Amino acid sequence: MAPQTKPEPELRERGPLADKFVREKLPLWQSRLKLEDWKISILSVHPSGLRAQTMGNIHWDADKKSAVIRVLDASDYHMPFHATLNDMEFTIVHELIHLELVSLPRSEASRSDEEHAINHLADALLQFDRRDDTLGALKASSSAASHER
Ligand SMILES: [Zn+2]
Repeated sequence: MAPQTKPEPELRERGPLADKFVREKLPLWQSRLKLEDWKISILSVHPSGLRAQTMGNIHWDADKKSAVIRVLDASDYHMPFHATLNDMEFTIVHELIHLELVSLPRSEASRSDEEHAINHLADALLQFDRRDDTLGALKASSSAASHER
């Protein structure tokens, strides 16, 4: 049997579907990464709300143990919806790994190495998570690792 392509949801349905998706994935990865003691909220934003060429970011308050993750809004992705959701999940995992490293020393010099290392870790975690999924999803997550966030 040939692999089935998932039907594309209508444009107006994508926002609510993407919101539901990230709200399910955030607690899942937060718990897997043992970050349950953090209060984390998630916002979808348009490119104007992000640094140029980035797909997301995280700001945290280590004393309050609170953090806000910004992810690129689903409507700003120009790819199939399934790949959009995969990439949004990649951003969530990437930003949560930043939170995992909060207590470690950080410098401007190590920043870009840290970004690369986090992309590799997020990619590995997601490939493991999606090992029963289609090859397409794996490819999508691998190419996602080349973007900054
Ligand atoms: Zn990053």
